[in-house]
Amino acid sequence: MRISVDTPLCTGCQSCIASCPYDAIEMKSHMKEERALINEYCQLCRACMSVCPEGAIKEYTEAGDAAPAADLSAYNGVMVFAEQRDGLASQVGFELLGAGRKLADTLGVELTAALFGADRKQAQELIRWGADKVYHCDDAALRSFNDEPYTALLADVIRAHRPEIVLAGATSVGRSFFPRVAVRLRAGLTADCTELDIEEPAEPGGIRNLLAVRPAFGGNIMAVIVCPSTRPQMATVRPRVMKKGVYDAARAGEIIPLAAPVCKVRTRVTDVIKEDAGLNVNLQEAEVIVSGGRGLGGPKGFEMLSELAALVNGTLGASRAAVDEGWIRYGHQVGQTGKTVCPRIYISCGISGAVQHLVGMQSSDVIIAINKHAEAPIFGVASYGVVGDVFEVLPALIKKIKEERGLQ
Ligand code: FAD
Repeated sequence: MRISVDTPLCTGCQSCIASCPYDAIEMKSHMKEERALINEYCQLCRACMSVCPEGAIKEYTEAGDAAPAADLSAYNGVMVFAEQRDGLASQVGFELLGAGRKLADTLGVELTAALFGADRKQAQELIRWGADKVYHCDDAALRSFNDEPYTALLADVIRAHRPEIVLAGATSVGRSFFPRVAVRLRAGLTADCTELDIEEPAEPGGIRNLLAVRPAFGGNIMAVIVCPSTRPQMATVRPRVMKKGVYDAARAGEIIPLAAPVCKVRTRVTDVIKEDAGLNVNLQEAEVIVSGGRGLGGPKGFEMLSELAALVNGTLGASRAAVDEGWIRYGHQVGQTGKTVCPRIYISCGISGAVQHLVGMQSSDVIIAINKHAEAPIFGVASYGVVGDVFEVLPALIKKIKEERGLQ
């Protein structure tokens, strides 16, 4: 495919120039008039096509024929790629089913899941977490993740069943093979989304675009990304950003077996080495996180925080500022360039609440913030806020908990 200007239709209005993120459109003289020309920097993003008021920018096949516009109405349904680790469907799949269920209900379509390399019991679990159907392949070649067979099989499933939206986790697995699937399908993919919604009106025949929200420009803005001209619309979502759906042990659905993919596999998994548990702070599984920022003033502040964390059975978290100061290891960092967490309780101490921190913790069930400035943005997401000095509030809190437990 290539994108080109139908020169006789172009009026030289230049509206397309600003729409191109790759500087791939220039004005050239054509029969003494300035006309748009698409150069070799074009990345086929198609952003210019919807901008041209004359419809002069078109997609062509390599043979030079105008490519037919994609029939978006041929795509229907929401599909979730549910990854597995050691044969067990992972949490991120259940979270995507929660998000996918909402999108599917808004659109009035079915929610399907694709599960590779795990047994039928795991497929059944996906139905209990909200899937109407599961496309399931338990071939031994898929037990350990491998880009090539996973890409081939998921692309085949999508081609055969044509979902309008496909979601995967922004995990090492999803980040590795999902872009390959998108390239094979020539579909738009939005990575690392923090919110998903449907553009109004969502009724049949309406627009039905997926609104994929993600931090952009270093987290300074939340960008809403839309792929209006191709299907499926693909997105990855970080673990712990979306809430799991409702588990219903009695829920029934269909499991559709898939044949193993037929493809050339050039890589082989010879061994799987687990990360050293000592280095791996399990923030993402923690029920309670006690997190500190620059307001703690130094490593001593984190000693006080550790005492509170031990009392409430919590795990230590931190802002990037505290990590950059060298007060605590990177494994504890919460936020855009750290971990995304969703504990039952997140206690934030001396953290301002910059957007890059908030994207990593704002879906926690209960947020308790302690900050000496009443205007700190963290109070905007907090369920309970304490305006005060951490060096007064934390010792008082620790003392109270100890008294209640008869520890002093
Ligand atoms: P500050 O912003 O300095 O805030 C300290 C807070 O402590 C203030 O609100 C102050 O009122 C309060 N305070 C001070 N003393 C006391 C006291 N005695 N008692 C009570 N309160 C007190 N940040 C992250 O956290 N995670 C990320 O993953 C992350 N990724 C980033 C990625 C990019 C590309 C960029 C550009 C930035 C990123 N940041 C990230 C940094 C982010 O923008 C902020 O700089 C950082 O979160 C600030 O950390 P902080 O709140 O601890 O410090």
